[in-house]
Amino acid sequence: MPDPGDLLADLTDDQRAAVTHAEGPLLILAGAGSGKTRVITRRVAYLLQQGVRPGSILAITFTNKAAGEMRQRVEKLVPGNRVWVSTFHSLGARLLRQYADRLGIDRNFTIYDTDDRNKLVKDALAATGMDDVKFSPDRLGGAISKAKNQLLTPNGYEKTANDFFTQTVAKVYHGYEKRLRAANAMDFDDLLYLPAQALRLNEEFRRDLDSRFRYVLIDEYQDTNSAQYEVARRLSVDHPNLCVVGDPDQSIYKWRGSDIKNILDFERDFPAARVITLTRNYRSTKNVLHAAGALIDRNKQRKKKALVTDNPAGEPVRVLTFDNGLDEAEGVVVRIKEAVKAGRFRYRDHAIFLRINALTRSLESAFVKHGVPFQIVKGLAFFERKENRDVLAYLRLVANPQDNVSFLRVVNAPSRGVGKTSLDRLVAFAGREEMPLLAAAAQVARIPEIKGKGASGLRDFYRLVTELRTKLDLPPHELIDLVIKQSGYEKMLRDSDDPEDADRLANVSELVTAAKQYHDENPDSKVVDFLEQITLASDTDGWDEAADHVSVMTLHSSKGLEFPVVYVMAVEEGLLPHERSLGKDEDVEEERRLCFVGMTRAMKELHLCHARMREFRGQLNYAIPSSFLGELPRDSSVEHVDLSMTRNVARGAADEWRAKVAPAARDWADTGVRPFIPPKKPEEAASIVVPPDTGLAVGALVQHDEYG
Ligand code: ATP
Ligand code: MG
Repeated sequence: MPDPGDLLADLTDDQRAAVTHAEGPLLILAGAGSGKTRVITRRVAYLLQQGVRPGSILAITFTNKAAGEMRQRVEKLVPGNRVWVSTFHSLGARLLRQYADRLGIDRNFTIYDTDDRNKLVKDALAATGMDDVKFSPDRLGGAISKAKNQLLTPNGYEKTANDFFTQTVAKVYHGYEKRLRAANAMDFDDLLYLPAQALRLNEEFRRDLDSRFRYVLIDEYQDTNSAQYEVARRLSVDHPNLCVVGDPDQSIYKWRGSDIKNILDFERDFPAARVITLTRNYRSTKNVLHAAGALIDRNKQRKKKALVTDNPAGEPVRVLTFDNGLDEAEGVVVRIKEAVKAGRFRYRDHAIFLRINALTRSLESAFVKHGVPFQIVKGLAFFERKENRDVLAYLRLVANPQDNVSFLRVVNAPSRGVGKTSLDRLVAFAGREEMPLLAAAAQVARIPEIKGKGASGLRDFYRLVTELRTKLDLPPHELIDLVIKQSGYEKMLRDSDDPEDADRLANVSELVTAAKQYHDENPDSKVVDFLEQITLASDTDGWDEAADHVSVMTLHSSKGLEFPVVYVMAVEEGLLPHERSLGKDEDVEEERRLCFVGMTRAMKELHLCHARMREFRGQLNYAIPSSFLGELPRDSSVEHVDLSMTRNVARGAADEWRAKVAPAARDWADTGVRPFIPPKKPEEAASIVVPPDTGLAVGALVQHDEYG
């Protein structure tokens, strides 16, 4: 055990007070980069050092990546102690499996992702006979998700439904739940909702868990939703050692049901809570903080708080203007390359943030063109590939024979002669008999309308899955290997003439490798664990931060991270703030917080980029600089650098530009409809492109890099 001095030496007095706080509820509200995450990590280590059993500590982070990091740090500080660090969702899944018997659920449940959910929603909608209504499954599913996060049951929701949309949702919600349970499946929200309900209604269960987890710590508390708060609170009644840290200015998941109100609830539910604020920022330069602070200060629904640091003023925050999105991508990549060439930074010191993933394409080409290593940090797209989803569906069905969504996905992949008509009949039969599709397939003899190939195909499929079920205890990679061989999936890809099937085959083999890696890292893991970790993966999970490359990610994913040099791209009206938020003050404030989160990731240098024209959804349009740029301080902390060819014109015709664009921007903000107002047709833009301000006289002979 290290000396307690080591754990506390490099902390400020306030941080130390939070780390060594003895028993009782603790609320740490503090600004970006003030050491909140550091305090949580140290506190876990400190508790262990004080002799608290590792098993009685539960730490909750916002992503699996952050959980892994915290686990490692703690392990380094106090070796030999494995503490339970996870996200709320992983916590929920583990509790539901561990306490399945007590909660009356089947522990082999499948976790349905949003795609799977939408399939069931569609099905449930069709069953209501209202399939002509225009609400998309995704929208209905989103409303159900929100209801669950507010802990509303179908009946509870129905009581509050007061218009056509909510009444439709109520009907669908009932049918959706029925289908979910019949498939022995949980959606993401169930992983919070069911434990929260169990903790609320089952006092014995609650008491046991409360005494199991005597110390609960939560990072990024500002983004918890009601169900999450319910879980945390119910675990902290007999042992109210709940420590939460957060920054209301960084709440960016309201759209997913998170609620700043939970911070107020905390003070209400734990009136004796100790409140500690951390005042100093250790991450960023004075200029970065000054600029970010000025921006967030525009939010009306906010307690004022200043961000101060002893760090140097540093470089000014740079607002970079480009002609168009391609120039912007090119310009950013070239700047990064130059900074690395000059020895000022490494590639890995750089991060690029975007409001939406769709903007990464032009960046990718620029990276490739200039040979700059990069990683785009987004969901584990690999597992989303059709062939991998198919193989995983086999796995899911083998683990959970009630999983009807997976059954339908693979019953005829590869083809077993089971056509749509046969399947419709099977589904109808299974519905009447209230049995899972796989069980119905075993009884195909009782469905005389299914004959010949259809019937034998279903029987074969049933036999295959039953046979594979006897192998469930194999490590995940071995079972996957069996699945692709015995199901005929591998043969189908191998025999195909389609050259893409060779790629698919390689992907499926790669899936085996991924499963093996997972198993090597988690030797006790079973198939369900592997499936769970894929389904619950967040964007940053696949991110390799140790490699020397530039990281590209969404602003949402950047939460909690830090980089020496940050570029935020496309800081334009309609993108940041996003068009969906326009016209609604509350939503614009959330967008401002999102911009603030991005800015406060920067340690040394921060660049905010925008282009005058942007191609988006296949259309080139004038882009209006984000109103957030106009809210930055007008002093030496911010420098505007116009790198556009059109800058002379823009300068000369500033009045004209303003006269045209500004009112358009305002109109559009009121209606909240269109992202980009073209004041002129894009083709006419050519007429305003003039040579850049090179200092060359007209008529001088020049050698151009590209044009010769
Ligand atoms: P965010 O709000 O972005 O999540 P945070 O409050 O969690 O930020 P941390 O990530 O814990 O802040 O800390 C920010 C940076 O400051 C980290 O690099 C951390 O190591 C450093 N830091 C925190 N406290 C101190 C300290 N007392 N002395 C030196 N460095 C510190
Ligand atoms: Mg943090």
